[in-house]
Amino acid sequence: MKRISLILLTAACLTHAQAAEKIRIVATTTDLADIARAVAGDAAEVSSITTGREDPHTLTAKPSFIVRARDADVWIRVGMELEVGWEPVILRESRNTRIRVGAPHHIDASLNVQRLEVPTQRVTRDLGDVHPEGNPHYWLDPLNGRMIAATLAERLAALYPERKAGFEKNLHAFERDLDTRMFGAALVGQCGGEALWHAAIEKRLDAFLKERGASDKAGGWYAALRPHQGKTIVTYHRSWPYLAERFGLKADVQLEPKPGIPPSAKHLAEVVEDVRARQSRVILQEPFYNTKAAEFVASKTGARVVIAPTMTGGSPEASSYLGMLDNVIAKLSVSL
Ligand SMILES: [Zn+2]
Repeated sequence: MKRISLILLTAACLTHAQAAEKIRIVATTTDLADIARAVAGDAAEVSSITTGREDPHTLTAKPSFIVRARDADVWIRVGMELEVGWEPVILRESRNTRIRVGAPHHIDASLNVQRLEVPTQRVTRDLGDVHPEGNPHYWLDPLNGRMIAATLAERLAALYPERKAGFEKNLHAFERDLDTRMFGAALVGQCGGEALWHAAIEKRLDAFLKERGASDKAGGWYAALRPHQGKTIVTYHRSWPYLAERFGLKADVQLEPKPGIPPSAKHLAEVVEDVRARQSRVILQEPFYNTKAAEFVASKTGARVVIAPTMTGGSPEASSYLGMLDNVIAKLSVSL
């Protein structure tokens, strides 16, 4: 009896000690938090500022966010000015100098991602909410999800070298999961995830698979959207170009006349013309935008309004980053 209680006591102490040692990670968005959880595993307690159900451009800083930033060991942001309206005030008011921009405990997840729409002309207000470093919605390209995970593993290992092996093991598990969902288990088994991504980056994946006699082995997201290559999806905001680019779709028609500017009657008349000319079948938008404009265009053209989250937690099915991509791609593949 005594022996058992001693063992229980020791176990309780250990659990307590381990819990106290957890790295407190605060990520601005749910996607970064989910990827951070995958990479850090048991070593960290991860939370996010956004819930995935709100527009990440227009969040208001709340006192509770400042408290969390104050207590954070590590801060992770999307960067590229996505959080420009609310991150500066949270970081400043937190007075936590470890996580201020440029400090080692402040991780900008955009560090190694492939960027789209980096402006070549000077950015002025009349262009709308254009981000001078490029389109910040980069996590919708699964390759960038992989890049984010690698950046987090590397930066966390630099900060906590005693946990490096664990972060690397977790990173590889995440990469395997992502690659399998992207290309299917058979293709990853035959070619390896790295080689498939290299071919995809060089925009010669279809040719690569033909060379290997593996075209019919393709599965996952890639196979689900391959029959739809070249089609146009109309979107509310310019949040989808990364997904479109990765899967050979076009997402250059928006209901917003300029980023952050609500749809106008004049602009929607042009969209209707575009939808007819391109025979687009899908108007895609996040759950937090009003559907009136999309329904108007749908009523004039017969296109379907598809509501899908761009962020983890944006709908009940999107309970993880990879689950969110599963959800979006499944909806698109049946609607396109
Ligand atoms: Zn945006």
